[in-house]
Amino acid sequence: MSRIRPATLLPFVFVLAALAWPTCADRTAGGGAGASGRPHRLLLVTIDTLRADHLPWHGYPRPTAPWLAALTERSLVFETAASAASHTAPSHASMMTGLYPAQHGVLENGMSFGDDALPLAALLRDAGYRTGAFSSVSFLFGLDLGFDRFDAPEPIDEAAARAGEAFERYRSAARTVDEALRWLDAQGETGAFAWVHLFDVHEWMRDEPVAADLAAVGAPADDAHFRYLASTDAINPSMAPQGKATLLSAIDRYDAKILAVDREIRRLIEGADRAAPGRTTALITADHGEGLFAHGYEGHGRELYEEQVAVPLLVHATDGSLVGRTADLVRTVDVFPTLLEAAGVAVPTLLRSADPALGARSLLPYARDGGRGEPGRLAFAQRKPGYPGGMNVSIRGQRYKLIHRPEGKDAFYDLQADPSELRGHVGQDRDAFHRLRDVARRQLELQAAQAEGRAARPVDPRFATELEQLGYTK
Ligand SMILES: [Zn+2]
Repeated sequence: MSRIRPATLLPFVFVLAALAWPTCADRTAGGGAGASGRPHRLLLVTIDTLRADHLPWHGYPRPTAPWLAALTERSLVFETAASAASHTAPSHASMMTGLYPAQHGVLENGMSFGDDALPLAALLRDAGYRTGAFSSVSFLFGLDLGFDRFDAPEPIDEAAARAGEAFERYRSAARTVDEALRWLDAQGETGAFAWVHLFDVHEWMRDEPVAADLAAVGAPADDAHFRYLASTDAINPSMAPQGKATLLSAIDRYDAKILAVDREIRRLIEGADRAAPGRTTALITADHGEGLFAHGYEGHGRELYEEQVAVPLLVHATDGSLVGRTADLVRTVDVFPTLLEAAGVAVPTLLRSADPALGARSLLPYARDGGRGEPGRLAFAQRKPGYPGGMNVSIRGQRYKLIHRPEGKDAFYDLQADPSELRGHVGQDRDAFHRLRDVARRQLELQAAQAEGRAARPVDPRFATELEQLGYTK
């Protein structure tokens, strides 16, 4: 599925772009730029459903992503990154806008940006980049605003699926990367921004695992690996319906999928860089994690524990100009200002949040001075709408986290003492609890006011069968 969208940007955007050009001298801030100032290729790579703690550079003992692990030695690496939602489309829309889901309005898979949205692709296109999106599912088509080309599989035809005709639930990472590379190659000397969305990890439950990938990550999981999982407190065999064997088999399947995606990201970044070596900047992250029985569930969407919201985030410039590592809390809403700064484009004024620490900020200062002047951030996230109990949200700072349940009981965690969120209680940290709860409540009130008259469009029924096949029915 591909659609050309006419250039209907607001005059406001042209003003911003014009303001951006005189900052060329500043563009050394953006990496992968080479001699001409800004990156020739700007990539946003999102790995659907990839929780951070299954990656080697987050301490995982299996070689799930050997190429990316080596790349982290030459990249800007964030060890503590939080997504804005435990659900695919809202989380991606937050990366694209620097806003939280209730602010940009894309609350569910299949929804679309309203015409008043000002996403990353629109700003980059106006600054002279060609813009291409390569999604592995059709239901993200609603995020096409600003893309010259939006390439995704056709939605699954409901009648054909009912009639028993064969269909694909999603497009493999290999084929999505093929399409992205073909498009990047065709852009020649023109600057190009590509968003590449890879879905294989999401399908660990339904796809048959590849034997070679299982073997390469060390499957079947042995007692030593089980002891590691148990020692992190993130996993508990009593929570898997069929016990330890089911749990370990799930871990094996999930880890093997990460390896397959690691291979494709290597092909993408090396391929993108080949045409103009040293002029590609890639930001690699995930939209949310996966339960894997950590708190007694497998999937994602409903909960807001760290296995859901803690995601990998790294920025790699192929000229080696972006290097560093930090444990400071950052968020996927920071993707928006980071990629704009890398391209030398001014960041527009965003909708206000209840506390300045919630606002999106570029991550590139961490490459310049280790982020010494960076104020502490707060990370806010919400779950998928429609569950009983209302719209739960989470808010965390560097150490403390609150899961706020407007219709239930809040849970408060000291992530330093209890990183797996197993012993939620207020204890000695009453001030931190009150501060987080106050910010969460004010953010919910503010977002409700900001949502008045918002123009995001509802779920497109064309995607219903695909969403059902991918397990997104409530
Ligand atoms: Zn997702």
